[in-house]
Amino acid sequence: MLLDNQVVVITGAASARGIGKATAKAMAAQGARIAILDLNQQDAERAALDLGDGHYGMACDVTDQAACFTAANAVIDRYGRIDVLVNNAGITQPIKTMEIARENFDAVVGVSLLGTLYMSQAVIPQMKRQQHGSIVCMSSVSAQRGGGIFGGPHYSAAKAGVLGLAKAMARELGPDHIRVNSITPGLIQTDITGGKLTPEMRADIVKGIPLGRLGEANDIANACLFLASDLSTYLTGITLDVNGGMLIH
Ligand code: NAD
Repeated sequence: MLLDNQVVVITGAASARGIGKATAKAMAAQGARIAILDLNQQDAERAALDLGDGHYGMACDVTDQAACFTAANAVIDRYGRIDVLVNNAGITQPIKTMEIARENFDAVVGVSLLGTLYMSQAVIPQMKRQQHGSIVCMSSVSAQRGGGIFGGPHYSAAKAGVLGLAKAMARELGPDHIRVNSITPGLIQTDITGGKLTPEMRADIVKGIPLGRLGEANDIANACLFLASDLSTYLTGITLDVNGGMLIH
């Protein structure tokens, strides 16, 4: 199996139809032990139980640096190592430039960008001790094309920031055999859109996608699996587009 006995931490993985949960399932099926981190303890525990025995769920707000270190230490106490981190937690707000207040900016940039930094800082010391690790960061096509459909400009900025952060960490951490890569999903059918995707909007969006459909959480989960596993041992600092051709560049 691709991740036999590897220990994987995934943030924002409690959401039932989300990318994180699908990634957790795909990785558990490949032999990994998964630590699901999310805002609510019960939701995280329930999501971990869904994966079967031997997985772990824990509350962790990724915008809280101390909570990230506590979570990473709990995983190390339990499993002895951390091989993979998937920085998946993210929120979006469909608002326009003039509507972005400081609190909007802080909330959206906080979860995606600061959260990616804090959670990476929490696992890097252990990965350095192991001289082995793979960090996968969830960006978005909206970082590349200047806005998606549901994210405001602050979301695009946060996700563009993730790409820069990941590339710089890749350069810094390569000598310690820690790989850092990003994924830029197109529009994926999860609950992040908050039920705001009308059939008309959907049909319109699909017209611009060469593969003729919206993405599924599994499409992203499989890309995460690739970047986490030894199938991608010579890849670091890359941005993997998983968007059905919505953006070809
Ligand atoms: P989702 O809403 O289903 O899942 C997001 C999860 O993050 C939720 O479980 C939520 O509780 C958790 N979360 C929110 N704030 C958190 C915090 N501070 N700390 C820890 N967990 C927190 O969304 P999704 O569509 O599965 O999105 C997953 C990632 O993929 C996000 O980073 C999102 O921006 C990105 N993305 C999604 C799409 C899409 O179309 N769905 C496209 C591009 C990128």
